[in-house]
Amino acid sequence: MRFSFNTQLLSRVFISLPAAGRWRAAQSRLFCSSPSSSDQEKPRASMLRHLTSKIKATGPVTVAEYMREVLTNPVTGYYVKNDMLGPDGDFITSPEISQIFGELIGVWIISEWIGAGQPKQLQLVELGPGRGSLSSDVLRVFSQLRSVFGGASVSVHLVEVSPVLSRLQAQSLTGNSSQEADSEDEPVYRHGETAAGLPVSWYRRLDDVPAGFSIFLAHEFFDALPIHKFQRTPKGWREVLVDIDPEKPDRLRFVMAPSPTPASSTLVQADERRGHVEVCAEGGVIVQQLARRIAADGGAALIADYGHDGTKTDTFRGFKGHQLHDVLSSPGSADLTADVDFSYLRRMAGGGVACLGPVTQRTFLKNMGIDSRLQVLLRNCSDPTTRKQLTGSYDMLTNPAKMGERFHFFSLLHHSRLAKPKKPDGLKLEKKKSPAPLPVAGFTELSFS
Ligand code: SAH
Repeated sequence: MRFSFNTQLLSRVFISLPAAGRWRAAQSRLFCSSPSSSDQEKPRASMLRHLTSKIKATGPVTVAEYMREVLTNPVTGYYVKNDMLGPDGDFITSPEISQIFGELIGVWIISEWIGAGQPKQLQLVELGPGRGSLSSDVLRVFSQLRSVFGGASVSVHLVEVSPVLSRLQAQSLTGNSSQEADSEDEPVYRHGETAAGLPVSWYRRLDDVPAGFSIFLAHEFFDALPIHKFQRTPKGWREVLVDIDPEKPDRLRFVMAPSPTPASSTLVQADERRGHVEVCAEGGVIVQQLARRIAADGGAALIADYGHDGTKTDTFRGFKGHQLHDVLSSPGSADLTADVDFSYLRRMAGGGVACLGPVTQRTFLKNMGIDSRLQVLLRNCSDPTTRKQLTGSYDMLTNPAKMGERFHFFSLLHHSRLAKPKKPDGLKLEKKKSPAPLPVAGFTELSFS
């Protein structure tokens, strides 16, 4: 039975893959507490100075401009300078909490590659890979199922703005084998090879990744992209801007644009019913690029993040040292993030691709067989501390009150992936029904019978 292939893949992975030992039951960004008064540290002088000079020269900046500068300014940006996911970091993500997360995504990728007819080439493309843990767990599954790939050529492509994080990713995926490009203008700024001999390349922009059948992964990537904020007023939609506080010149504050801005005139939907909206135009552009590539070359994108389906309003927040942080204070010292609006991503993807989801992380992981994987690991583990960590990290990922229901999975697929194969002309008397397309793992319940 074709459908049972996913479960066969799972069984092969689950029984034979060793435990890699990453089970941290730490706090995700969702469960951070409010800052204590001792957290009111000195402002990040250089970033604050940069922003205040800019505002003095050209006026208040949009929230998107503020977020872009704070997070990805090439010299002082938060992502460019920090390892925010490390032991002394500001937040933790699912791939860092448990290796099971990446293993299940590895199975998803192989299952989609099979669903697409096992093309000769597979590019694994990850956007914003953090410490490289997700790709590393995916590649462990690829190694385990090497025989499934046959002669297909597999390559890894990482889109990362941060030099600090790209070095950590290189260490995790290629050991000491990676090399930086000679010139900063090269689209591939670093390249190396995994222990299994797969080529790995690093890019600053998705545009630079070569065309070809690809599976794109974006985990907690879209929430880091700049958002515009708009407020409904009696005079129509107005954009929220960031300005210098006139009472305290070393502090920033939100103000409302007195008249429409280019963004408020173009980014708010005509039938919008909310009083306040956040629009991540950059995320929309990236989804359009993904959709174009998938429509042209085949493949799929799996986007996992916290978010909503066009219902939430003000979700812009900061994190520092696992605590909530005022978004305008000490810019550059804390992570800034906003919930992903999946309805916007779906609209921007357009009709050229099929969209699935969003489904909750709990549903996706359970459909992918997380319970069976946990049972196998528990069966092979007698150490009480490790067993506790295993069940603790499982609970963190799937508990509806923890990450289970706030995080969602959303996918873009080539239309052919879901289309019923057409009956050839002239076979009107054929009694057999066309076979249903192979269900997309994670978005459909698997049967383990
Ligand atoms: N996916 C990882 C890391 C999430 S943090 C995980 O879940 O653990 C966000 C990641 O996106 C970081 O690697 C950050 O450096 C990267 N990033 C943020 N903005 C980016 C941009 N505009 N282009 C490319 N990478 C970006």
